[in-house]
Amino acid sequence: MSNPQIPKEGVAVVFDKCNGPIRVDKHHHVVQPSELKPGEVLVRVEYTGVCHTDLHAWKGDWPAAPKTPLVGGHEGAGHVVAIADGTTTTLKVGDAVGIKWLADSCLNCENCRLGSEATCDLAQCSGYTVDGSFQQYAVSFARHLTPIPDGLPLEVAAPILCAGVTVWKALKEANAKPGDWVVISGAGGGLGHLAVQYAAAVGYRVVGIDTGDDKRKLLASYGADTFIDFKQFGGEGKLIEEVKRVCDGKGPHAAIITSAGGAAYNDALEYLRPHGTLVAVGLPPDTYIKANVFWTVFKSLRVVGSYVGNRQDAIEALDFAARGKVKPQIVVEPLENLEKVYHRMEQGAVPGRIVLKNF
Ligand SMILES: [Zn+2]
Ligand SMILES: [Zn+2]
Repeated sequence: MSNPQIPKEGVAVVFDKCNGPIRVDKHHHVVQPSELKPGEVLVRVEYTGVCHTDLHAWKGDWPAAPKTPLVGGHEGAGHVVAIADGTTTTLKVGDAVGIKWLADSCLNCENCRLGSEATCDLAQCSGYTVDGSFQQYAVSFARHLTPIPDGLPLEVAAPILCAGVTVWKALKEANAKPGDWVVISGAGGGLGHLAVQYAAAVGYRVVGIDTGDDKRKLLASYGADTFIDFKQFGGEGKLIEEVKRVCDGKGPHAAIITSAGGAAYNDALEYLRPHGTLVAVGLPPDTYIKANVFWTVFKSLRVVGSYVGNRQDAIEALDFAARGKVKPQIVVEPLENLEKVYHRMEQGAVPGRIVLKNF
C-alpha cells in the first residue's frame, strides 16, 4: 500500500561520527515502498521535537554509542505514506502517527509481555540504533508507531512522544492518588513543565521546584499549587524544610526528579513523607543516589527509576494533549536549524521544547 507521490530524495540532518560535523543532506535517499521489509512503514515526518537525548547521541555521551552515520530524532509526528507488503497492522496510508524513542521491541519476551517494552533485549531506538525523525521520510515499525488522535496538531503531538510519555510514565510509577502531594523538581524544564500539567490533570497537589518569577507564573497557569524557588532556600537543609512545610508539614507523597542536577535526588530522600516514592527521571552524569539505609527502612521509602513508557503510555499521553489538558510550550523552527538548536541546548538557553518543521 502506498501513496504515489513519494520522491526519491528528501532532506535529512545527518552526522557521520559522534561530535563530528552535522550535515543537512538535501539529497538523502528516501526508502521506496518496494524497499520496505515486512513490518515497516514509511512516514512523511512533518514535525519533530528535539530532546536532550538527541544531543547526547551526537556527543556520544552514553555508554553504548549510536549507529553512524545517524539521522537522530525521536519525537516525530507525520503521516503514513506506505506500508510494507506482508505487514499485519490496523494502520492505513494517510493515518497520523508518531515516532517515539522506542522504535521497536519483540513483544514476545518477559519484559514486553509485562508492558516494559523499553527494557526488551531486542529494543530498537529511533535516532540511536535506527535512523529517526530528523528527516522528511522515515522508516519505522508498524507495531510501535503511535496513532495521533484526530484534531491534535502535529507540532503539539511531537514533544509528547518523548517528553510527555516519559513524565506520564514517571507519574504512574509515583504510587500516588488524587489529592496527594507530588513534587516536580526541575518543574520549568522541557520534561518538568509537562509533568506539572499531567500531575494537575489527574488531581495531584503539585509543588514545582525551579527558579525565577517567569517560571513561577508559568507553572501556576499549569495548575501547580505551590512553587518553590530553590535559589531562595540555599542554606543547608532550607529547601528540605520548605518542601516539608508546604506539604502539610509532613513532606510529599512522591517526588519526580526531572532536573539534571544530582542534589535534587538526595534532597528528595530527606523531604519525602513515610511511604513516599522517589521517581528518578533526569540523568545527571556520574551521579549516585545515596540513600541512608536506616531511614529508607524506617520511613519505608521507595526509590524507582522510570525509563520511557510503552505503547499504551504513549496513547494515554497523547490523549491528555488531545483533550487540551496538557499543552507543551513549543517554539517551531526549520529542520535545518538543528545544529544551532544543539548549541543553544548546550548553553541551557532553550525554553520549553524546540519543534522542527520538516517541510
Ligand atoms: Zn527524548
Ligand atoms: Zn521483548
